[in-house]
Amino acid sequence: MFNKIIIAGSGLTGLTLALLLAKKGVKVILLDEKNEVGKGSKAICFSRRTLEIFDKLGIAKLVLEQGVQWNKGRVFFRNKEIYSFELLPDKSARYPAFVNISQYEVEKILIAAVNQEKNIELRRQHRIDNLTQDSGGSYIKVTTPIGEQTFSTAFLVACDGSRSTVRRLMGLKMIGSRSEEKFLIIDFRMEADFPSERWFWFAPLHHEHETILLHKQPDNIWRLDVKLGRGVSEDIVNNHDFVLKKIKQVVGDKPVKVEWVSLYRFSNKMLENFVFGQVIFAGDAAHVFSPFGARGANSGIHDADNLAWKLSEILQNNATTDLLKTYNHERVMACNQNITCTTNSTLFISPPSLEAIAVRDSILQNAIDDDEAKRKVNCGRLSVPNIYSKYLSSEQGEWLSKDTSPGYGVKDCLMREGYLIEKLGYEFTLIIYADIVSPDMQAYLGTHDIQILPVNSSDNPSLISLYELTPTSAYLITPDQYILGRWKEFTPEKAIQLKQTYLSGALDNITPPILTEQELIDEKVAKSLINAT
Ligand SMILES: Cc1cc2nc3c(=O)[nH]c(=O)nc-3n(C[C@H](O)[C@H](O)[C@H](O)COP(=O)(O)OP(=O)(O)OC[C@H]3O[C@@H](n4cnc5c(N)ncnc54)[C@H](O)[C@@H]3O)c2cc1C
Repeated sequence: MFNKIIIAGSGLTGLTLALLLAKKGVKVILLDEKNEVGKGSKAICFSRRTLEIFDKLGIAKLVLEQGVQWNKGRVFFRNKEIYSFELLPDKSARYPAFVNISQYEVEKILIAAVNQEKNIELRRQHRIDNLTQDSGGSYIKVTTPIGEQTFSTAFLVACDGSRSTVRRLMGLKMIGSRSEEKFLIIDFRMEADFPSERWFWFAPLHHEHETILLHKQPDNIWRLDVKLGRGVSEDIVNNHDFVLKKIKQVVGDKPVKVEWVSLYRFSNKMLENFVFGQVIFAGDAAHVFSPFGARGANSGIHDADNLAWKLSEILQNNATTDLLKTYNHERVMACNQNITCTTNSTLFISPPSLEAIAVRDSILQNAIDDDEAKRKVNCGRLSVPNIYSKYLSSEQGEWLSKDTSPGYGVKDCLMREGYLIEKLGYEFTLIIYADIVSPDMQAYLGTHDIQILPVNSSDNPSLISLYELTPTSAYLITPDQYILGRWKEFTPEKAIQLKQTYLSGALDNITPPILTEQELIDEKVAKSLINAT
């Protein structure tokens, strides 16, 4: 049988993609070599944007309930606290900035949702071993417990992780770097009363070349991530006394039970393109980042969100495969932003030479009482929605707010009833004053598959003010909840034309986003560390 879509790999990226496609009514087959969810410890920090995507799948509440929230981060240099930051609960947003929960618990929640979904066939113990292609699609040879099988498919989405078999079989190589430094991950159980905060130490008193990150997970499990350096033996993970010593150096003599230990070297690598005809890459198969900033799993889930509705438009609404150019453009751009960001963080966390360490340490020393130096301290910039390019025709009129301009993810907002993010749904949506919506306008936009979210001005002052809405203005939002257009003088034709331009995959007449103030600071600091070498 010829399938429309096969997804290789049922990790966080593949599972999310399958569920989003199924929500659009697309049938998918998910192939995974494993028979169960993974063991050990990988991602623990999931961002607001990820929770908003999970909201579309109806699982965000469960993830929140099972996870722990943290609102405070503290940063130390030697034995002094340099500064702390608050991720205060944002009452205007449905979801918190972050929730901590083990990646495998999230995978279990996703699998439970997949098992309820008639449009998804999850085939475990199906290892992809070979791949051939012709103009019709891909032919995948799979080893299963009952022998070899061949699957044919129009679209193959490779979500098969950092060692992607699909990538290897297609002869594709990632570009980027791998660190020589080794980091130790320890997950330990500690019942003691200890604040639910993110703690980061540069050069702690017991070892001037270490860095330490401490984070809380559910069920009194704590994650310690310690930079040990280059010449560390792989056997260190079996040295229980050493592991206990590392825990004690941070939490003191409290009773603890070690749950998991592993050693890793991080990579910052990516494919230069994510779309190769009808084979598409997403998640770790397309890019890998250092964990500082929690951008790995989160960005894979964001890839899935960007891609799913586009595949559905192609398969169900006659869009051409040119639409995938926007996936390639936006997610490669997002990936470049993530790589730059994590590279700058890791340069600060792990400077490349003794001279660079001296530069870094003087910034840290100054940061104790200098606000400007504080902004240079980089212990990981946490995952936020990436900013995309905008079309020249996507904005008209004078606007004050930059972060509600085209190319930005929608900022959530409390409405009279519920939150904006819940009301947007999974279609192109126009946000507009209710008073000017006529049945004719609704019907006309409806024929172009644009739904309307009418906003009652007196009921929703925060939304009106955040989005600078007036009786003549409007915003066009994509199904993955990005701002595609905003106009001070709106006409339905402007929205319809912009939607058509986007669906056609046209990438001329676009402007890339400019760097944020913080990104510029981080870049300058990173250069000073490299130049010190
Ligand atoms: C120590 C550590 C901490 C991290 N912390 C964070 C964090 O806090 N936040 C964050 O966002 N990210 C974090 N990450 C990154 C995160 O774990 C990964 O980005 C995430 O697992 C990627 O998900 P994925 O679905 O793309 O790939 P994977 O999770 O690798 O899933 C790939 C799937 O493909 C299957 N597969 C592979 N080959 C084949 C084949 N030939 N045939 C069939 N199936 C196959 C595998 O069995 C697997 O199920 C961390 C990573 C590490 C190592």
